[in-house]
Amino acid sequence: MSGPAADFATNRDKARRHLARFAERPLAHFIGGRHQEPHSGRFFANSSPIDNETLGQVAAGDAADIAAAAAAAKAAFPAWRDLPGARRRDLLHRVADLIEKRGEEIALVESVDTGQPIRFMSQAAARAAENFRFFADRAVGARDGLALPAEQHLNYTLRQPIGPVGVITPWNTPFMLSTWKIAPALAAGCTVVHKPAEWSPLTAMLLAETAREAGLPDGVLNTVNGIGEEAGKALTEHLDIKAIAFVGESATGGRIMAQGAPTLKRVHFELGGKNPVIVFDDADLDRALDAVVFMIYSLNGERCTSSSRLLVHRSIEGAFAERLAQRLARIRVGHPLAPETEIGPLIHPRHREKVLSYVQLATKEGARVVSGAPLNKDCAVGNYVQPVAFLGARNDMRIAQEEIFGPCLTVIGFDTEAEALALANDIAYGLTAYIWTRDVGRAHRMARAVDAGMVWINSENNRHLPTPFGGMKASGIGRDGGDYSFDFFMETKNICVAFDTHRVPKLGA
Ligand code: NAD
Repeated sequence: MSGPAADFATNRDKARRHLARFAERPLAHFIGGRHQEPHSGRFFANSSPIDNETLGQVAAGDAADIAAAAAAAKAAFPAWRDLPGARRRDLLHRVADLIEKRGEEIALVESVDTGQPIRFMSQAAARAAENFRFFADRAVGARDGLALPAEQHLNYTLRQPIGPVGVITPWNTPFMLSTWKIAPALAAGCTVVHKPAEWSPLTAMLLAETAREAGLPDGVLNTVNGIGEEAGKALTEHLDIKAIAFVGESATGGRIMAQGAPTLKRVHFELGGKNPVIVFDDADLDRALDAVVFMIYSLNGERCTSSSRLLVHRSIEGAFAERLAQRLARIRVGHPLAPETEIGPLIHPRHREKVLSYVQLATKEGARVVSGAPLNKDCAVGNYVQPVAFLGARNDMRIAQEEIFGPCLTVIGFDTEAEALALANDIAYGLTAYIWTRDVGRAHRMARAVDAGMVWINSENNRHLPTPFGGMKASGIGRDGGDYSFDFFMETKNICVAFDTHRVPKLGA
């Protein structure tokens, strides 16, 4: 047997082998370089979106576990901070090597734990390794600053790691996302306590183990599992944790800001989005269609940067929507380990219910719902949904204003450039925008005026690690990527040295 069916069977066999350990032994925490049972002895069940069967038990961390992890991170901090940058660089490259070596295991485990299709997850480990390599190479220069000479003094700046930091991550592409925060924190010289999402905890442990195997000293990277309101909250409140890098929902970001206020926590937030893709009638419509479809239906639509609002010029709205519907009908929904699958099951039955509630709402609000092909019988159990588009929508509808975080595209027509811009900006969020036009002046006018931290012109989301990543309005606070990440994880210090030529003011002389 060969071909997709054989690959599917092989993937399933391999996944079963990699997942066996999680069924046999409960998933603990990883603190101070070793697995540690939860202080309270409590666990919760983790299940797969494929069939909602339990994959294993997971430690329900609490304030005591967070305190142990924070203590380990605090103890490890001085030595890690003082390690020469070149040594940190070499260690982080070694982490990247081992991530690549375990790439298949990471991809298969992540796919079963999150429901994300293997076609996308197979790149997750490679991207995570790339994140480590990128920041590893910059570890040596992370402390560099500026020379700012004045008339009779020389000022110079340097950067120092802020201390132990907390990283809190969501369940969509958890492995790749967590490395995007953890790699720069470690490269800067910070130690880390990571709290992964409770709906997708497995690959965070693979990362902690891989880092340990690569030679990261004990306590430099700690992982505490648990529920957000308990373990996550305790992390944001801990006095010894100097900053929180958080990726998740906007409402959770607000709560974290309040929780961290008494300890003056520095925060970096990457939050929700309801991102416009604006298609003008002069665009390359074939490429635009590919990008529109990819950016909302890839990764199950569970993607912060997804183009979930299509604003399309009315002169092409009908024809474009028709081609969209044809594509939708051919999108393959199925088991995430099948190589041909394009959309897998959504993360959790609760999330599936939320997504389906918007499909019902769309009809009530007066949009026309166009669905993908009917689900086949293998999708009867599990959190599968048909991908949909809501045609003829208005921007004041809830389906246009609220983040659905599923394979649901809201389509809205516009007549003029000014109207397109007004629609794009009439929203609480401001993460990304995608603009499709061949008119160079218009592309730049729109890019400048649109409320978004990141704008792509005639492109889907394209990753370039030195560029700033982050959102405006309810989509976030701060930027990461490249040197921006170091600004967050480090303190900038100014040092002013006199040339001994200036007059020192005298009192009582
Ligand atoms: P979520 O906010 O529910 O949870 C994210 C993490 O926060 C989880 O680990 C959770 O346990 C923890 N948490 C929950 N309550 C907490 C609290 N009170 N204190 C501390 N931690 C707490 O988000 P989610 O549903 O897991 O993820 C989906 C969301 O993430 C979407 O809104 C999506 O847009 C967003 N997201 C944004 C980006 C970005 O770069 N802007 C990237 C990916 C996902």
